[in-house]
Amino acid sequence: MSKFLGTRAKQEPYVYGEQPKDKKYIKINTNENPYGPSPKAMELLKNTDWDRLKLYSDPQSTEITNALAQFYGVDRDKVYVGNSSDEVLSFAWLAFFDRVDKVVYPDITYSFYTVFSKLYDVEECIVPLKEDFTMDLDKMSSIDAKGIVITNPNAPTGIALTLEEIEAFLIKNSEKLVIVDEAYIDFGNESAVKLIDKYDNLLVVQTFSKSRSLAGLRVGFAIGNVELINGLKVIKDQFNPYTLDAISNLVGAEAVKDREYFDYTRNKIVATREWVKKELYDFGYMGTDSKTNFLFVKYPNISGKYIFEELRKKGILVRYFGKAKIEDYMRVTIGTDEEMKIVVEAMKEIINLIRN
Ligand code: PMP
Repeated sequence: MSKFLGTRAKQEPYVYGEQPKDKKYIKINTNENPYGPSPKAMELLKNTDWDRLKLYSDPQSTEITNALAQFYGVDRDKVYVGNSSDEVLSFAWLAFFDRVDKVVYPDITYSFYTVFSKLYDVEECIVPLKEDFTMDLDKMSSIDAKGIVITNPNAPTGIALTLEEIEAFLIKNSEKLVIVDEAYIDFGNESAVKLIDKYDNLLVVQTFSKSRSLAGLRVGFAIGNVELINGLKVIKDQFNPYTLDAISNLVGAEAVKDREYFDYTRNKIVATREWVKKELYDFGYMGTDSKTNFLFVKYPNISGKYIFEELRKKGILVRYFGKAKIEDYMRVTIGTDEEMKIVVEAMKEIINLIRN
């Protein structure tokens, strides 16, 4: 290890799902969308004169910001667009949490939050999920902290809070900043965006990586009141004024405008999720009531690691966390119907071989 490494470079980074190159897998381990991006956005990508790439991108990301403002019916100065929601969240930590501050989130949630807290030296207050994997909102509210992060629906459990529950939580925690990470909100839930004018302590963060099928483009955004959004802009302009590239700005805007394709693909994923869930649960698998593009499942008395490894041998890649409390669970992203038929059969076969 180089003697020049500082403390931050020695810290534990985020561990992402593997991206293997050894053979072709049914890759359902990183919650990507099996359907391609909006065909209209792809047309624009092909037909644009990219000579403009010789110039810096627009630091205001005008096209995509306007498209999102229109989509959600909010003023454009209440929208901040960045290079992935990981980056937007990272900037939120920098903008809102100082070294002495505390930030609250559950023990089982998106594992990047803990990485941000360590990187920026913010004190994390971790509240265990309840037995049934729901969030302990009372406990989370009881901590004297600067902010609280709620993933809705939560990941990897997939369990969602209703808009009423979010609103009650915002009222109860009116002196704290509540960041609601809605990476999976479009798979059957109502966004808290409609509450931003009512609650100045709410910041909603979303991504283009799941419901908009543009994980490779790296686009994420936040919606909140003007002061919070300005806070993020100030951080951006101290970090890299051109976080969003010119392609993301234009192609992303076109994807947002293609509402029809967005609705078609997200509804398709929800329908596939429901039949996969029924097939697996009827067979004996168990899991949460996931409202996302993944299922969080286990088979009673059989090691999650074993099922994960057997699936891998069959060319199916799911996500296994091996973390206390959830060591028997796997997170299975919803692919196409064709892929999921193969996955369901494989998941049944692995169990049948043990049973017989
Ligand atoms: N939040 C949650 C809850 C996620 O699961 C993910 C995806 N790993 C992200 C944020 C980050 O998404 P992206 O950086 O691709 O926008």
